[in-house]
Amino acid sequence: MDPQKRIEELQKIIQEHNHAYYVLDTPTISDYEFDILLKELEQLERENPIFISPQSPTQRVGSVVKSFHTEFHKERMYSLDNSYDASDLIDWEQKMKKVLGDVALSYTCELKYDGASISLTYEKGLLVKALTRGDGFQGDNVTNNLKTIKSVPLHLKGDYPDFFEIRGEVVLPFKGFEEMNKKRIAKGEEPFMNPRNTASGSLKIQDPKIVAERPLDCLLYGIAGDFPTIKSQFEFLEKARSWGFKVPDTAQKCDSLEEVMAFITHWDKARHDLPYETDGVVIKLNDLEQQYELGYTAKSPRWAMAYKFKAEKVATVLESVDYQVGRTGAITPVANLKPVLLAGTLVKRASLHNADQIEKLDLRLGDTVYVEKGGEIIPKIIGVDLTKRGAQVLPIRYATHCPECGAPLNRIEGEAKHFCLNESSCPPQIIGKISHYISRKAMDIDGLGEETVGLLFENGLLRNYADLYSLEVESLLRLERMAEKSVENLLLGIEASKKIPFEKVLFGLGIRYVGETVAKKLAFSFGSIEALIEASYESLIAVDEIGDRIAQSVLSFFSDPEQREIVLRLKAHGLQMALDVQTTAQMSDTLKGFNFVISGVFERHSRPELKTLIEKNGGKVVGSLSSKTHYLLAGDQMGPAKKEKALRLEVPMITESDFEEMINA
Ligand code: AMP
Ligand code: ZN
Repeated sequence: MDPQKRIEELQKIIQEHNHAYYVLDTPTISDYEFDILLKELEQLERENPIFISPQSPTQRVGSVVKSFHTEFHKERMYSLDNSYDASDLIDWEQKMKKVLGDVALSYTCELKYDGASISLTYEKGLLVKALTRGDGFQGDNVTNNLKTIKSVPLHLKGDYPDFFEIRGEVVLPFKGFEEMNKKRIAKGEEPFMNPRNTASGSLKIQDPKIVAERPLDCLLYGIAGDFPTIKSQFEFLEKARSWGFKVPDTAQKCDSLEEVMAFITHWDKARHDLPYETDGVVIKLNDLEQQYELGYTAKSPRWAMAYKFKAEKVATVLESVDYQVGRTGAITPVANLKPVLLAGTLVKRASLHNADQIEKLDLRLGDTVYVEKGGEIIPKIIGVDLTKRGAQVLPIRYATHCPECGAPLNRIEGEAKHFCLNESSCPPQIIGKISHYISRKAMDIDGLGEETVGLLFENGLLRNYADLYSLEVESLLRLERMAEKSVENLLLGIEASKKIPFEKVLFGLGIRYVGETVAKKLAFSFGSIEALIEASYESLIAVDEIGDRIAQSVLSFFSDPEQREIVLRLKAHGLQMALDVQTTAQMSDTLKGFNFVISGVFERHSRPELKTLIEKNGGKVVGSLSSKTHYLLAGDQMGPAKKEKALRLEVPMITESDFEEMINA
């Protein structure tokens, strides 16, 4: 078959399956079958790069943008007028009737999705541009980021207009938001505050790869421009759905304000079961001809109205403040409240984030506080009812010592939170550290999870990761929940970890700021744990990409006699505490100071192997070509754009054999 034909056909089929999966939520084929189609398309496109279109499903994740271009919207993006009760709506209807005459009016009611507004431009059925709202007249071109959202169709189907702008909201559903935060907390990062800010923040990230990892969704609600064949808002929503857009089916046509109010009352409660955040209802006059007649004020359409749900807020008494200790030692203050019903759940606790937050709200114990449940999962305190403040209130004295271990708390410069620095004997930190040590990317110890670590710790069998290697069958079997088979697996897993290479062990130690990449750099630069223990500040920062913060952290880790002792015990147990002979033999300074870009497919090495080889020889691998790139290591099937760019920037292209000669020289 003609490759161009097959490429187009595959693009269509894949788009169809994407639509079924991400828009309709009803997958039509297995992931495996889908992968096969995608692989076939990738292969054909590699062989026939001239037929790759920017709207191909293989092109969802593009390259980094340095800064976003500001561009004009074809039609302005307006705000909405707000209403808060039925009488506001009655006034609004009266005003419209003054212009339209005393006719019966119909409405389309939609939910007001709470995220970031977006305007998408389609030409001949292809997505060509995505702009943020900006100031309403012009917004940022974030096309690359929007393309990563799988529910956004890159190709439309059906009877779409030749050219149009469609408006919608980029949202981050609760589930994905929670998962992202779990991962962040596990990595010792600050969790995101709420889905809305995270969604709009995501649109401004320069690297689409990062955006692609965020489980964003895009819900559409409006079209800009005149389309004679479409008569009403409700009809438009149905049309947009048929072209492949994700248009929630919660929208409803209402023939009177009573019906509108019933819709509002229903969703004020039911919205809590929706997968994403909403903050109101948008009521639009249904007839597009009537909309046109009414037009716009300086800020908003006269034919639409937002109805804001009452922020769910209740007053209760702040009884006390507790302090929670995370895996990294970060302290989070938590308010204990007099139990109160809020949005259908009994609330007893609210997050206070950090000491600054308490100060900003000027909270006292015994205060009557307002608690709100917004998008956040945990309710938060938003203010104090000062009229209720009496002589009974007491100042909040922020914890000075760790509630788990009693060590004094510290506030590191530049961090909003206080930290317990007693890494070696603070229980949540001990459990956190061991869990990190055994995790897949570090020592990958099978048969052991965080829960078991907690159990072993509580039973006095485990105080640090070196203790893992002294665990004995008998004492393990005595524990509840530990059957013979699981003990056996656990001990086998621990034994196997003795073969894990040095750079992973180093990562597993859990030195603050020493992630996977840094651990690798340190391992390759110093070669052994002894050399690293002896390393000076100067020799540490001399390593590429290692700055003051990491250097200080490494020094402080190894200057702690307890940590040193644990590390030496690991060595005594036979863990890999130096690069193996083979690795060392391959190491050199030959490529020091040179930056490489690797592209294409190679005969004798995989790309990760080449990367490791470059790093072992002192060189550096970067993601994209620039004037600072020294060599483009080019394999087969490299894209024509890369080649062209390399020529333009005069970056020399070398083959796999050239490279081998370089490092063997
Ligand atoms: P505001 O920012 O409060 O003026 O409200 C206007 C914004 O509401 C628009 O820019 C949209 O991003 C957002 N919005 C969310 N859902 C809808 C909807 N169903 N119809 C129209 N606008 C919506
Ligand atoms: Zn502590």
